[in-house]
Amino acid sequence: MSRVVREVPEFEAEVPLLVVGGGAAGLVAALAAREAGVEALVLERDPVPRGSTALSAGLVPAAGTRWQRAAGIEDSPALFAADILKKAHGEPDAAAVAAVTETVGPVLEWLAGRHGLPFSLIEDFRYPGHSALRMHGLPSRSGEELIDRLRAAAEAAGVDILPEAHVVALFADASDRVAGVEIARPDGSRERIGCGRLILACNGYGGHRDLVRRHVPDLAEGLYFGHPGNQGDAVLWGEALGAATRHLSGHQGHGSVAHPHGILITWAVIMEGGFQVNLEGRRFADETGGYSEAAAPVLAQPEGLAVCVFDARIAGIARQFEDFRRAEAAGAVPQADTPDALAGRLGLPVEAFMATFEAVEACKRRGDTDDFGRSFAGVPPLAPPYHAVRVTGALFHTQGGLVVDGRARVLRPDGSALPNLYAAGGAACGVSGSRASGYLSGNGLLTAVAYGALAGRAEP
Ligand SMILES: Cc1cc2nc3c(=O)[nH]c(=O)nc-3n(C[C@H](O)[C@H](O)[C@H](O)COP(=O)(O)OP(=O)(O)OC[C@H]3O[C@@H](n4cnc5c(N)ncnc54)[C@H](O)[C@@H]3O)c2cc1C
Repeated sequence: MSRVVREVPEFEAEVPLLVVGGGAAGLVAALAAREAGVEALVLERDPVPRGSTALSAGLVPAAGTRWQRAAGIEDSPALFAADILKKAHGEPDAAAVAAVTETVGPVLEWLAGRHGLPFSLIEDFRYPGHSALRMHGLPSRSGEELIDRLRAAAEAAGVDILPEAHVVALFADASDRVAGVEIARPDGSRERIGCGRLILACNGYGGHRDLVRRHVPDLAEGLYFGHPGNQGDAVLWGEALGAATRHLSGHQGHGSVAHPHGILITWAVIMEGGFQVNLEGRRFADETGGYSEAAAPVLAQPEGLAVCVFDARIAGIARQFEDFRRAEAAGAVPQADTPDALAGRLGLPVEAFMATFEAVEACKRRGDTDDFGRSFAGVPPLAPPYHAVRVTGALFHTQGGLVVDGRARVLRPDGSALPNLYAAGGAACGVSGSRASGYLSGNGLLTAVAYGALAGRAEP
């Protein structure tokens, strides 16, 4: 249970900087601190740091990078910030959006140049809501590669990572200064470690069913696809210390997780010209709004399921993602030479499916906008062999959290900063506002990487 104890006990050890959580946010923070000459200790509850970062596609959006320049892409942090604010209906704090959009590009270049992370730009499709190609990923386009490379870089740089160290309590004095933490070890023993500064990088509350019920009720009974160890500790500790929280209903959902395989199917299958039907063979939404807001409509369909329909060309694009290749290997992506044979393979009512398929293709031929408001202008027709995958909707991670300033310091409701507490990644309030539809692709790793670097570098 996460708690704050109002006393300053004897500590077995003391370090200048403690980081709770060894996901992208925690490891980037620790690397940045090391670079500034600060000794950092990362406390991670799992035997090996993985977090939601390992479950992600590892794609980080950034504007004005050298990879974009090499590809002739014109972009800027200001344009990126405008896209974020537009997607989030103007809800996020503009100064916070400016801080992360200006920070993330140089941080990716630093991770590549100094720590050998070979980022490249995704050039063959644009994520919904981004007005430029700006998603950067590692060769396998997987979060596993991202976390493994960050861990290797942190270890090589001399960062200490203590695995199987579950932080269960914070100790704070009367001025809200955090003096240290208590960790629980797998054998049941407890240790107390003191700190000069504390960075909360233990993500949000997606793994805490009651907090999800309270803040994201639409997805509470659906699949949680993030890391189960993310139990809302940052928000619970922050609140106990008098910190401000914001946008706790904000989250990233996803409307395309292969069912029952539980493998993420990239939304590129939709954006490139595919569509979704329910088990009755009917469409139910404009799928191009974004994958995050698609989660609740998919879960609202019969059996909480839908089918993504696309073709071989689109599968070729999706295949750059390890997850998609895994889904194919697991037999989750049936193919057929005709749409009616595809419907048969998926157990969909053939007549209804054929009517839907023909309607979509007719819309494409005419360049029309359909009744859901989806524009098919310039969208190529599907061609055989046709592909499909049965999917469900899921909660990926929460986007609300502790309010931080441009240095990632945790703030009180009156705007003053807590003395030595910082938050990064899913522990901090993100830049997605209070609704699923406010999530712009990449907002998760954006605030993990950017706030991680800001928190790590921050002067005490
Ligand atoms: C399937 C999936 C796909 C995604 N794809 C993308 C994508 O392509 N691009 C993108 O930007 N975002 C994506 N996201 C979101 C992204 O993964 C997260 O926003 C990001 O990884 C958050 O990083 P983090 O470091 O804050 O948290 P995490 O990576 O979850 O790390 C938190 C760590 O803290 C540890 N921890 C928690 N509590 C404690 C405690 N009390 N004591 C010690 N340790 C603790 C956990 O074990 C964990 O290792 C995706 C998410 C999912 C689930």
